[in-house]
Amino acid sequence: MFGDLRELYQEVILDHGTNPRNHHRLEGATCQAHGNNPMCGDTLTVYLKLGGDGRVEAATFEGRGCAISMASASMMTEVLKGKTAEEIGRLFQSFHSLCTGEDDALDAGDQDSHADDDEDLERLNVLAGVREFPVRVKCATLPWHTMKAAMSGEDEVSTE
Ligand code: ZN
Repeated sequence: MFGDLRELYQEVILDHGTNPRNHHRLEGATCQAHGNNPMCGDTLTVYLKLGGDGRVEAATFEGRGCAISMASASMMTEVLKGKTAEEIGRLFQSFHSLCTGEDDALDAGDQDSHADDDEDLERLNVLAGVREFPVRVKCATLPWHTMKAAMSGEDEVSTE
């Protein structure tokens, strides 16, 4: 089993997984939510600070879990900064498709052609390997589901 996972652990994932960015509690957070993935034991809290214009001023997370969940959370907090809820919603869709291998949303997104989205997706693409491992999809998407819950005013989300 672990041999199969080896290809997942690319350098970038390992780097973010062992040295996650924005891995701290956020002072002045305007919303936050807790996410739980019992299948793997990943647990994290996502903190967001939304500005008056509705854009994300800061995004951080606290928690522990496997390298995939930590790397995904780390990369997510990096790409959220400066984005509106609408932009984040679109990115969420695309990222979800990336992880599950369902490319419908990706194709739809291409018609609109948002250059920034493409750049972000390219960075997040290192996590696309999880689609070969259904259990790992939950690890990769947990931070995003948690972030979405935070933005919609929920405080708890579980993959179960
Ligand atoms: Zn995990």
